[in-house]
Amino acid sequence: MTQEFLKIINLKKYFHTNYGTVKAVDDISFNVVEGETLGLVGESGSGKSTTGHLVVGMYAPTSGKIIYRGLDISFTADERPKGVRHEIQIVFQDPASSLNPSKYVKDIIASQLKLRGMRDDYEIEERISKLLESVDLPPENYMYRKPRDLGGGELQAIAIARALSTDPKLIVLDEPTSALDVITQAKIVNLLLRIQEERKLTYIFITHDLAVAKNMSRRIAVMYLGKIVELAQSEELFSNPLHPYTMMLFSSIPVLTEEDRKLRPKKVRSVGEIPSAISPPPGCRFHTRCPFVKDVCKEKEPVLEPVNTDSLHLVACHLAGR
Ligand code: ADP
Ligand code: MG
Repeated sequence: MTQEFLKIINLKKYFHTNYGTVKAVDDISFNVVEGETLGLVGESGSGKSTTGHLVVGMYAPTSGKIIYRGLDISFTADERPKGVRHEIQIVFQDPASSLNPSKYVKDIIASQLKLRGMRDDYEIEERISKLLESVDLPPENYMYRKPRDLGGGELQAIAIARALSTDPKLIVLDEPTSALDVITQAKIVNLLLRIQEERKLTYIFITHDLAVAKNMSRRIAVMYLGKIVELAQSEELFSNPLHPYTMMLFSSIPVLTEEDRKLRPKKVRSVGEIPSAISPPPGCRFHTRCPFVKDVCKEKEPVLEPVNTDSLHLVACHLAGR
């Protein structure tokens, strides 16, 4: 039997705040196949980043399991075996705040390499040169620059080089292009795709930008208020969205080409405001905004299940496709 690469089982993360308990991630299960990109989409506050943070071990889950290549890693990064810690990396939306502005690029990457036990200065410099080359930054121009003097795209490339320095197998990309202008976004997307192919990387790609998600991902999970409401192959999700929330997200994508226009589903307008993750609505969490709401939706929580037997298209909706 082939071992599963990453398996998330009934994962929850609750944050206790002065205003109450925020159910940021509330019982989600999915798997990630080695070498694929799994997109995580949804509006702001749906729990995408928290999911990514749990995977890299920025904090421990409230309950549930994260199984990486058969190993239980449902702990903070410090508590994980060192080898595994290095294999799972994250790139954040805002490289300016994740890179020390006044250190040389060389030293930023060197500190990662030293953490891994590399000592020889010559070897370290060689390694940094290769890493910078692999993200299209000529080393002779970038080794002795400081983040505060660089632009957004250059900084994101450095953040990617730093993530690559530990030879990861899985990278969580948390809105890596959202802070960039359109042209730079395309460059970073291409860079990520090329690196993925060269290094056989697996990505969890978090974004609220559906067009980018579609470009990057083999499969996409749609999150709403801490839950996964739909999960399918990208093409399938875009051509046949079944959850009213997914339809609502899609109907707000700017239409660019005639082909996209044809692909665009019938417009679904939502009613109401996004409820709080502190007291999510009972039954289906989306029922307060759903144009198709029925009584059952207010009472019973729908389970994420295959649309029909053996389908790879999962949806959590009492009405969709059944
Ligand atoms: P997304 O990335 O989809 O925008 P997040 O995972 O950042 O969503 O947040 C999900 C919910 O959890 C939000 O309501 C957010 O305010 C809350 N949240 C995230 N991190 C924390 C934290 N450290 N403490 C308290 N609440 C948090
Ligand atoms: Mg986020």
